[in-house]
Amino acid sequence: MMFMGIIVLLFGLFLDLVRLPFGFAFFGAGLIMIIISLFSKPAEQPEPSKPGHKFCWFCINEIPEEAEICPVCRMRQRERS
Ligand SMILES: [Zn+2]
Repeated sequence: MMFMGIIVLLFGLFLDLVRLPFGFAFFGAGLIMIIISLFSKPAEQPEPSKPGHKFCWFCINEIPEEAEICPVCRMRQRERS
């Protein structure tokens, strides 16, 4: 999103430089995309939907926090370091 915003912003600047219309619109859209990407949280670490749950290391199913063996795939859970 941040990268896309920069591309659109540079494209808007380029359109402004060559005196084409709508350059400022692309510039504004790029600015908005960068601002949104700054304020939106990165979605890299999904949170379990239920409190007291964690994700299985092997099958990524939601299992109870205290479970040592996944009830879905029967694999032993290792501790988070
Ligand atoms: Zn599992």
